[in-house]
Amino acid sequence: MKALAIDVGGTKIYNAVINEKGEILSDVVKHSTPRDLDEIKNIFKDIIKKHEKEVDVIAFSTAGAVNNENTKVIGSTGNLVKGYSSIEFKNLSDKKVFVENDANAAAWAEHVLGASKGCANSIMLTLGTGVGGGIILNNKLFKGKSGSAGEMHFKMYPDKRRKCTCGSYDCFEAYASGSGLKKTAEEMSHDENITTYDVIDGLKSGDEKMTAIFNKWQNDILTGIIGLGNLFDPDCFVFSGSMAEFIDTEYLEKSANAEIITQPTKVLKATTGNYAGMIGAALLALEVQ
Ligand SMILES: [Zn+2]
Repeated sequence: MKALAIDVGGTKIYNAVINEKGEILSDVVKHSTPRDLDEIKNIFKDIIKKHEKEVDVIAFSTAGAVNNENTKVIGSTGNLVKGYSSIEFKNLSDKKVFVENDANAAAWAEHVLGASKGCANSIMLTLGTGVGGGIILNNKLFKGKSGSAGEMHFKMYPDKRRKCTCGSYDCFEAYASGSGLKKTAEEMSHDENITTYDVIDGLKSGDEKMTAIFNKWQNDILTGIIGLGNLFDPDCFVFSGSMAEFIDTEYLEKSANAEIITQPTKVLKATTGNYAGMIGAALLALEVQ
């Protein structure tokens, strides 16, 4: 069995043919994400036309929440074109078309093949410009009533300190993301030109001020996983994304376990790589459990 996997992000669209073992069988092809709805649809049609004869199913891993029927994106997706949620994915091919949120798909790839393999309950946090989340409970992706569960927009502070990309204030994403680290750095250094690179370089060279900024950011992540740990009692947390490479999993695991009232959990880094979203969507579409 084979899936044509298509990953749709804010800046790039990737596609590849993937089998039921999660192996990538073709080259991974990259396109820039158009800022126009018709152009996005045309790219999808072109990719599908090229590969649909050789695959059993089309599997989309996309930014944005996806309904429980895995057919549509629901609500708005800040980093994609207006009207994206109007796309009827099933009309793009005569083959079965399956759609899942990219963070959920990546969490599934880790669950089947990666760091959380063997964990019946896991929470994946993807730390990039924003924060993606995927929750697996009792070996099933937890989707909620509408399909949009696992969005990391729970509140960290009650007093409107920082605006979030979702329009609300002080969500976990506004602190734990790469943009959150920049904001924390701005607040603590009183320098609005400071970058996340400045903080990471400073951390590596032992600069006290930059280390304090990094620690504040990491401790906000710790606060989040303590709450999630108590709520979901997961076997493990898995961190992925460009910012995850800098976190200290040993510190987070030890500190979280010192505070949570549920049984000890593990804090791990993802192992399925950059194409986890495509791999997870393919496995879900091919119904690999
Ligand atoms: Zn938010």
